[in-house]
Amino acid sequence: MSSKEKSTSFAPALYLIATPIGNLDDISVRSLKLLRVAQIIICEDTRNTGQLLKLYGISAPKLMSCHEHNEQSQVDIIVKEIKSGKVVAFVSDAGTPAISDPGSRVVKGAIEAGIDVISVPGATAFVTALVASGLNTAEFAFLGFPPQKKGRKTFLERAKSLGITVVFYESPYRVVQLIEDIAEHWGDSVQLCVARELTKLHEEYLRGRSGEILKKMKDKTSIKGEFVVIVGVHSEEN
Ligand code: SAM
Repeated sequence: MSSKEKSTSFAPALYLIATPIGNLDDISVRSLKLLRVAQIIICEDTRNTGQLLKLYGISAPKLMSCHEHNEQSQVDIIVKEIKSGKVVAFVSDAGTPAISDPGSRVVKGAIEAGIDVISVPGATAFVTALVASGLNTAEFAFLGFPPQKKGRKTFLERAKSLGITVVFYESPYRVVQLIEDIAEHWGDSVQLCVARELTKLHEEYLRGRSGEILKKMKDKTSIKGEFVVIVGVHSEEN
């Protein structure tokens, strides 16, 4: 336990709290304690977080919305609330805040204002997928969502040139295109892991060479769900 918190009391600070990425049991005891005592919970979508709180019998304190489009303008308000002595929890819709989600601008603003920022760890899709991928976890790069158009080729070339395991997020609408592009850039014998619907009912891992996975994905009648795509290190022996 950090010196800033006893079992039920938490010092004023910005607490970044990870929430489940599917299975609602994947939330820590510490996260629940914090959500219970927080005077303000900052979230992407108040309805979504409201449902999570309801499930755990947490009566909603002040819920404040912070998303991609208003994050910068919320920084000063959040800083002011914490400076006035409030415990402020920050969550995103799923997983860890600031990982392909809002959070990093608020964190930067809080640090610049001399406020304590405390990260309360939990689920994040890329780590969940990576550790079960069977690919090298000693050295990896998480690159988030690839650009859709401008800069895509350079982005993928740079990703390959890193020479380590690379992890991407992708939507169901673009995942086949991404695997096609990986097969083109890395070659169709590079090892791939496509993780779908992690921690949910239809959780699935496809592991194998990019050419084989591409064929399997193209053979599917429909592509649904959330995806993490992991590319191994290209080598002739792999
Ligand atoms: N903050 C989240 C985290 O910590 O992983 C990521 C949020 S980002 C907006 C959403 C993307 O994360 C999805 O498009 C997908 O690529 C990935 N993702 C989230 N949940 C997932 C799951 N249960 N299974 C597979 N991928 C998931």
